Amino acid sequence: MGKKRIYLSSPHMSEEGYEKHYIKEAFDTNWIAPLGENVDAFEKELVAKINKEPDEPLYAAALSSGTAAIHLALKAVGVGEGDIVLCQDLTFSATVNPVIYQNATPVFIDSDHATWNMDPALLRKALGKYKDRVKAVMVVHLYGIAADMDPIIKLCQAYNVPLIEDAAESLGTTYKGRHTGTFGQYGIYSFNGNKIITTSGGGILVARDKEKISKARFWATQSRDAARHYEHSELGFNYRMSNVLAGIGRGQLKVLEERIQKKRYIYKYYKRELENLEGLSMMPMPSFQESNCWLSCITLKGKVRPIDIIVALEKENIESRPLWKPMHQQPFFEKYDFIGEGISKILFETGLCLPSDTKMTDEELDKVIAVIKGLF
Ligand SMILES: *Cc1c(COP(=O)(O)O)cnc(C)c1O
Repeated sequence: MGKKRIYLSSPHMSEEGYEKHYIKEAFDTNWIAPLGENVDAFEKELVAKINKEPDEPLYAAALSSGTAAIHLALKAVGVGEGDIVLCQDLTFSATVNPVIYQNATPVFIDSDHATWNMDPALLRKALGKYKDRVKAVMVVHLYGIAADMDPIIKLCQAYNVPLIEDAAESLGTTYKGRHTGTFGQYGIYSFNGNKIITTSGGGILVARDKEKISKARFWATQSRDAARHYEHSELGFNYRMSNVLAGIGRGQLKVLEERIQKKRYIYKYYKRELENLEGLSMMPMPSFQESNCWLSCITLKGKVRPIDIIVALEKENIESRPLWKPMHQQPFFEKYDFIGEGISKILFETGLCLPSDTKMTDEELDKVIAVIKGLF
């Protein structure tokens, strides 16, 4: 047997067994599928956690993945062939793939140093360049760091373009006191296995527009018209979350606050121990936001390179990985326009995600730190 592996971010079910309770309920009532009480309750309980604006109700549709949620957000906005979607360049491909599903064209916007997310000045430039062809803006809150929303929202309003927030990694992060994912016309979260809470696989779409959320639920269940037989006047998808998985989600929501506290603890631990190493910087923590610290990331500009740390950690059976490779550098996406000066490229070349698993002990954090310090 080798050493126990330390993960980047792995599923962490509640010690109390909340998830099992809700799954058992689904079994006992035979509501395994489709839908059922857990799905409805999960949607309501998630909204109650993130919507702190009592006068502005928020609605949610629980889906099979965060990617499905992005797809339905684009569809709800009406993105189609010939349209341009201005997308954050530094992200996971799941942000952008649905733009292609809708036969639209992505244009990639570089990050700024202060947030690692979409640079508002470059968004302005892109909106000026593509004007009426822009059908949506897609911003991401990478690694749980909030993008600078005020200038981005202002620009979207000025150009009358809907804003979609990919908050897959930032559930629980607030920007000026308000939850990321609740600013745009649409927000999405992911419950994939490595996210801050998980349903094994799953996602959710949120919006203030109640009818659009009803419509998303309709599309997600094969667009069945109200008829005794199977009648379809629109294209449908099989994108709904199952009642069993929604039960896991309900249990996980009960420990979200705890998970966030632990992720923040891990970030502060690394910061305290690593920040003074030559050429090493922690990821930015802009003061206008409070991050969920989903992954603790660093950049390096001295002699030690990210790959040196990845290899050294791997020898100890510890997982780490580079930052996301920018979309404009991906073979599949490189033919699309890129607005920027190469910040995302530099981040990719110099950055690294450290193990940020909420089950990590102080001893395990110390071990990671010792391996890294050993290279300096
Ligand atoms: C995980 C992730 C997604 C996709 O979510 P899935 O639930 O895996 O489909 C989208 N965007 C970002 C930035 C992500 O990290």
